[in-house]
Amino acid sequence: MSNLQNLDQKYIAGTYARFPVSIVSGKGSEVFDENGKRYIDMGSGIGVTCFGIADDAWVKAVTDQLRKVQHTSNLYYTEPCVRLAELICEKSGMKKVFFCNSGAEANECVIKAARKYGYEKKGPDYYTIVTLENSFHGRTITTLSATGQDHYHEQFLPLTPGFVHTPANDFDALKECVLKNKACAVMIECVQGEGGVIALDADFVKKLAEFSKHEDVLLIVDEVQTGNGRSGALYAYQNFGIQPDLVSTAKGIGGGLPLGAALFGEKVEKIFGFGDHGSTFGGNPIACAGAVSVIERMDEDFLKSVRRKSEIAFEYLNGKKGIESVSGMGLMIGIKTRGDAKEIVRECMARGVLCLTAKDKLRLLPALNITEECLKEALEIIVSVCADKE
Ligand SMILES: *Cc1c(COP(=O)(O)O)cnc(C)c1O
Repeated sequence: MSNLQNLDQKYIAGTYARFPVSIVSGKGSEVFDENGKRYIDMGSGIGVTCFGIADDAWVKAVTDQLRKVQHTSNLYYTEPCVRLAELICEKSGMKKVFFCNSGAEANECVIKAARKYGYEKKGPDYYTIVTLENSFHGRTITTLSATGQDHYHEQFLPLTPGFVHTPANDFDALKECVLKNKACAVMIECVQGEGGVIALDADFVKKLAEFSKHEDVLLIVDEVQTGNGRSGALYAYQNFGIQPDLVSTAKGIGGGLPLGAALFGEKVEKIFGFGDHGSTFGGNPIACAGAVSVIERMDEDFLKSVRRKSEIAFEYLNGKKGIESVSGMGLMIGIKTRGDAKEIVRECMARGVLCLTAKDKLRLLPALNITEECLKEALEIIVSVCADKE
């Protein structure tokens, strides 16, 4: 074992089962380990490096800002976060943005906003948030409570009260759950990511959107993983023709630097006043300058190219030997393999392709600007490994 791996095991908290590989450099969708071995990156740091590694325009935006000012606190105005908020609002139909540093924090923010709305509009009993079974919303105690998977909870009780879970795609059950629990909000992922890359039924999402509007229950969409072009739309809810009241996002938004955002729709545009929420690092100018450079390039042509590459991948993977089914949306792809997914990931890695898993599936979240050539090269290897490991 290399010295680095020994030191990591000695000094880093044991929360991660790392692969025995150190990534030292990269460009676009290619990364290199300490021995100079090349890999095609089909995970992009769990959907974060949306324009790949060391993208020229992103590096320039980040370094230009780094030379100007790296942090000011939120006591003062800075340009990058304002530019980014304007861009996001124009492209998403949302009205206001709160910046933080991660997905869990973005969810904490939308949860607080929903509770305040329930309190103000309906009274102090209306604090419950309904989320879906098999969802994933983060790892803080409150976002764990929102997460509808018991195995994440067991050793961390008691959880934050005020969360109930209902099955995905069962509208009648959801309706009853909302009314019975005096819910102030319903929170969904349009495509459940950690839960196995499963898109919600369009009909369920549409009915939920109508119902939440009718009952004045807020609709929260967790776009931490699905957002920022990943689904082939800027935000996945745009594929479903709905407009949520609250949206959380993170992962890809910063192109590789820590950044999260909560987006507020018309109903909750003014829900927070001075002191209701805050973040020391939130809206960091360097992270936001990088984010502006990626979000401003996600125009209709770019999103079309994401959808085209998605089609290539789905067509190529579907029905191949060792592959039971393919799920997801855009460049967020789940592959139900006949062989063990973890073993397939290890073999793909040996053959120069980095993949992820989600539950018992193989999960692909390549950079959105991956070249078709690179994508096909990776898919060929993945398909061949799936066949070998059947
Ligand atoms: C990754 C993820 C989170 C948590 O994001 P962190 O940045 O790790 O806190 C929350 N929700 C969804 C849907 C995610 O995929």
